[in-house]
Amino acid sequence: MTETNGQPILRVSHLKKHFPLKGGLFGRSKLTVKAVDGVDLELREHETLGLVGESGCGKTTAGRLILQLIKPDPGSDIRHRNSPNLATLSPRQMLPYRRQMQMIFQDPYSSLNPRMTVGSIIGEALTIHRLAKGQAKWDRVQELLKAVGLNPAHVKRFPHEFSGGQRQRIGVARALAVEPEIIICDEPVSALDVSIQAQIINLLQELQNRFGLSFIFVAHDLAVVGHISHRVAVMYLGRIVELGSKEQIFEDPKHPYTRLLLQAVPQPDPSKRGKRKLLEGDVPSPVNPPSGCHFHPRCPEAKPECAQIDPVLADEGAGHQVACLLCQASREKSEARFAGAES
Ligand code: SF4
Repeated sequence: MTETNGQPILRVSHLKKHFPLKGGLFGRSKLTVKAVDGVDLELREHETLGLVGESGCGKTTAGRLILQLIKPDPGSDIRHRNSPNLATLSPRQMLPYRRQMQMIFQDPYSSLNPRMTVGSIIGEALTIHRLAKGQAKWDRVQELLKAVGLNPAHVKRFPHEFSGGQRQRIGVARALAVEPEIIICDEPVSALDVSIQAQIINLLQELQNRFGLSFIFVAHDLAVVGHISHRVAVMYLGRIVELGSKEQIFEDPKHPYTRLLLQAVPQPDPSKRGKRKLLEGDVPSPVNPPSGCHFHPRCPEAKPECAQIDPVLADEGAGHQVACLLCQASREKSEARFAGAES
């Protein structure tokens, strides 16, 4: 795994997206789906930051908001190196920054235009960003196909002529075409067979070493995230509830939700299988999240105050951040905020 140099390349603060619900008189409704509800994170150079949680926790929306594929709510702040706040830019102003931040999509079947050849799919970004044309463009496309382990001679084939794993390699080549610094990988292996998943993960790690890329790796599979990530952020109902190095999250998880997620990971070694506690109940509706700690209705360690006080993400030491009243730094910060709101 590549060593990160610790320099921040992307800073996200107060990232928020509340989708208004249609309904009520004249289609107006005051209800909103709080898909992403105040996410703060930092991505470092050459780092893979895993973003995990159950489906519906907001991790995919967070990735799309960072890339401006969905416009974040006012107050959100996204900075690439010393850029202005990307959340406030128009599509035209965003263009140079978009080149630095690309995405690999989950579904290698629907994310490629079936009417375009592989060469046109990969070359499109080169044309849009005016990076190459004519023979230089085709040379670059073939170079990219080679970099992702595909035969450059297949440049004129259509997506349906490739397997699922090969299509995801085309998606990776498309993301690499404009030489980005950051790639957001949105569940890039969850639609693939297990044997192919390992090949794509290895390819991403190899490309990270070769091109010095930084990844935000969105996934629900903790085993995959643990394999590829330097740090991991755990999301629940639109918020980060725990963030730390891979070792902190996997060897010393502090949030009850993270602990339950880890216990649900299948353990291949029978001698290491302990008594497993299961994560019970469904994720509550993001339209009307529970009071206090949003996790309290499902938390086996909940105390009466958990239904009242909303825990704040606080540093418990060495960059390990937790939002849980069982943790001291979080409790002190949350109680102070709660007392301020009450007075
Ligand atoms: Fe559980 Fe309370 Fe911690 Fe929330 S704050 S995770 S309910 S112990």
